Amino acid sequence: MCQSFESISELFGSNVFNDAVMRERLPKDVYESLKKAMDGSKSLDPASADLVANAMKDWAIEKGATHYCHWFQPMTGSTAEKHDSFISPTADGQVIMEFSGKELIQGEPDASSFPSGGLRATFEARGYTAWDCTSPVFVKEDGKNITLYIPSAFCSYTGEALDKKTPLLRSVETLNTQAMRVLKALGNKTSKIVTATLGPEQEYFLIDRSFYEARLDLVLTGRTLFGAPSPRGQEMDDHYFGTLHERVASFMNEVNIELWKLGVSAKTQHNEVSPAQYELAPVFATVNIGTDHNQLTMETLQKVALRHDFVCLLHEKPFAGVNGSGKHNNWSMVTDDGINLLNPGKTPHENMVFLVMLCAIVRAVDKYAKLLRASVANTGNEHRLGANEAPPAIVSIFLGDQLTDIFEQLATGGARSSKEGGELKLGVSTLPPLPKDSTDRNRTSPFAFTGNKFEFRMVGSTQSVASPNFVLNTIVADILSEVADELEKASDVNAATQKLLQKIATEHSRIIYNGDNYTDEWVAEAKKRGLPNIISTAESLQTITDPENVALFEKHKVLSKKELYARKEVLLEAYSMQVNIEAKTMLNIAKRQILPAASTYSGRLGSDIQAVTAAGVNADTQVEMLKKVAALIKDFDSNIKTLENAVTKLSDIDDVVKQALECRDNVIPAMNAVREPADELEEIVDADVWPLPSYAEMLFLK
Ligand code: ADP
Ligand code: MG
Repeated sequence: MCQSFESISELFGSNVFNDAVMRERLPKDVYESLKKAMDGSKSLDPASADLVANAMKDWAIEKGATHYCHWFQPMTGSTAEKHDSFISPTADGQVIMEFSGKELIQGEPDASSFPSGGLRATFEARGYTAWDCTSPVFVKEDGKNITLYIPSAFCSYTGEALDKKTPLLRSVETLNTQAMRVLKALGNKTSKIVTATLGPEQEYFLIDRSFYEARLDLVLTGRTLFGAPSPRGQEMDDHYFGTLHERVASFMNEVNIELWKLGVSAKTQHNEVSPAQYELAPVFATVNIGTDHNQLTMETLQKVALRHDFVCLLHEKPFAGVNGSGKHNNWSMVTDDGINLLNPGKTPHENMVFLVMLCAIVRAVDKYAKLLRASVANTGNEHRLGANEAPPAIVSIFLGDQLTDIFEQLATGGARSSKEGGELKLGVSTLPPLPKDSTDRNRTSPFAFTGNKFEFRMVGSTQSVASPNFVLNTIVADILSEVADELEKASDVNAATQKLLQKIATEHSRIIYNGDNYTDEWVAEAKKRGLPNIISTAESLQTITDPENVALFEKHKVLSKKELYARKEVLLEAYSMQVNIEAKTMLNIAKRQILPAASTYSGRLGSDIQAVTAAGVNADTQVEMLKKVAALIKDFDSNIKTLENAVTKLSDIDDVVKQALECRDNVIPAMNAVREPADELEEIVDADVWPLPSYAEMLFLK
């Protein structure tokens, strides 16, 4: 696979039109213009765009590419692409290979079949993709097909965002603006840009392809809708960080090579808590590139798995009874001159910037806790949040002992400020230098400070990280704008900062919690503190359009009111559609596989009883077995009918909110009721007639 490369460093990014390639292939002035376009200071003129497009085309063709595509992220959460070849027929019946600046900058896919949440009618088909020059163009190899990929935003004819990237890019801008205002007010004279950084740790399961193909539930819904617990699960704690199985290790090796070629810095890999569960983490990148890379990572995991006769399950909860999968969304802010704003630092000056950023984040997370929670609400994640394996649906922040202590000091106003040598200095007497890793880790917190970044742990494993991050960027930008408003007008910046930090530390102490978030005590305590605990997806998604969120997104021009309402609609609809598909798949398996198998087995028992009795032997045990099976079949059948009714009722509801609530209140409970007798049957029915691969096989056989 990587034989043609001398080394990994040569392989890394070899399929990316990166800075080195640009420098080599573009005239200097065009290169400069492109760099300006990339940092947002000046858009690319048409002549330069033509030259850039041409250079990209030549480079891609040398790599064997025949096509290009605008690669975008519709509101489905996955990616979309439409390929066009470079060929252009000539008058003499030949072709030349062409790619213009216009084609690079803008595409025009039919937008009618992507969810728009009512932003457009089906007949209004026109949509635009626009090149996002802040994320590099790359070449992707899929079998023999080699294509030039152009990361793009996607919007409607009328300019509304129809994707996940557009609000992310807008949020990056607003965070930059507001964070720079604060830095300037605090005396920073060197930084020009602040960018959010992202390192998403991706969890996934790998199972043998033959098992996957024998289970319609996995094929159609990504998770098992039936399945008795394996006699052995994760209780031995021996899978986490265990030795990699050779077949898995070979898979990971190939995943890494594929990702490295694409410039994705896959770094860490290990076994996760559940059997058959694994994790991959990259080195962090800017939030926009990190998000694109996470999409490529998910896609690559799935693609390479098939080559090894595995299937990669990205679902948040593929198996009941063992841990599900999430993503730890590591997030920070960094300046163009290399200052990590969440690095506590060793000097008081650095401490001050850090403390302002820290307090702004604390206020943002407390004020917009419901929005943050909603940014990770989907059908799959509902199985995880609050199920003692992932953080509960209550948003809180882990700061660790030392920072919490400092935070509490700030609240008492004990931190005195003074000015020295033109630089601001804050409360040296009460603020010690802040060493990294001064506190233990807390794996149960949904939003944990981990040394020089925050880790948002509620994100589901299938989800695009765009939404949680555009929310995070925007809510932090919002509080930073408040901070900047105060500091810019203050005659004494020190005193103003002091006052602000004190106010935040006093008002938002309720969001800080360093204890075990998985306990019932915390749920009770959080309630006392007035923290929201929104467990259901249906309820959580409704909060997206709360007035304060509309105001937030409009103020920072991340989403208009119309766009926000559309997003809520799309997400609610997707939730109900997913539940509906699961319910129908469940009915299909129940009626066509499990019921017949249980019936066969009961028939077999019936014949056995006759034969045994005829032989003059007591068949009481077999009679008991048959009675048990018959009773479970009866229950199962009756629960199937209830679920059928629930599904029919669901299809009669038009309103998206009512649909989602119907799913939560009737369809899902009816599904749980169907599963129960089926799983019991699995434990007693002859293994030879049971139609589905078992949990033990799927989780333990490789
Ligand atoms: P752990 O979470 O176990 O402490 P690491 O510290 O190695 O592991 O980080 C996990 C993830 O966090 C990695 O993807 C890493 O690149 C990312 N990360 C580290 N520093 C930052 C940062 N400043 N901003 C965003 N992500 C970061
Ligand atoms: Mg981590």
